[in-house]
Parts: sequence; structure tokens; C-alpha cells
Amino acid sequence: MRNYLGEDSAESSCAADRGHRAHTGHAVTERIQCSVPFCERTTAANQQFTQWVCSEHWKGLPRQRRLAYNRAKKRWQATREEKDQIAADMLWKRLQQAAINRALGLKEGT
Ligand SMILES: [Zn+2]
Repeated sequence: MRNYLGEDSAESSCAADRGHRAHTGHAVTERIQCSVPFCERTTAANQQFTQWVCSEHWKGLPRQRRLAYNRAKKRWQATREEKDQIAADMLWKRLQQAAINRALGLKEGT
């Protein structure tokens, strides 16, 4: 396996928890970059998600909100209903934006 700059070391165990398959969006075939601008970290693209936040930026987010997102995502994976996907999508977008805002030194704004 090739070694990429900024490889996420915990990729195999829990990177999926920090990735999201966006409602609108296409599966990519190579690497997904962290959603935070200028962050160089990447993870392997797979069928599970199309957007991703690296562990450094993910762990700065409030635990309650991360858990809420993980619950919503699990429910969607269980039901495969569109309303559950939209709910997970919304929570993901908030977390993603919060991670970006934090990294840029802005207020979280949600
Ligand atoms: Zn990052």
C-alpha cells in the first residue's frame, strides 16, 4: 500500500465515523480530502462516504453532536429511508461547517 502524505493513521478503525455520503454527490474513486480548507489530510475513498473530516478536526467538535450524527447515520443505514438520510445529511453539514469554522478561527455559528 502506498504511503500518502497526511495519511490518517486510524483510517481502518474509525474513519468511517468521520465520513459522510452526501445526499447529493458522487462517489469518488481515489482519495477524499478533509473538508476543512487547507487541511492536507486524506483518506481512502470508498463506497461508504463521499465527504470526510480528519481526526484532528473531528475531535475538536462537541461530543454530543458527533454522537447525534452517528446515531442519525446508523438509523439511516438501518432504514435506508430518504427522510433519515436527509436528517443525517443535515447533522453532517452542521458538523462539517463547525469544523471549518473552528479551523478558521470563526464562531461555530450553529
Ligand atoms: Zn482536517
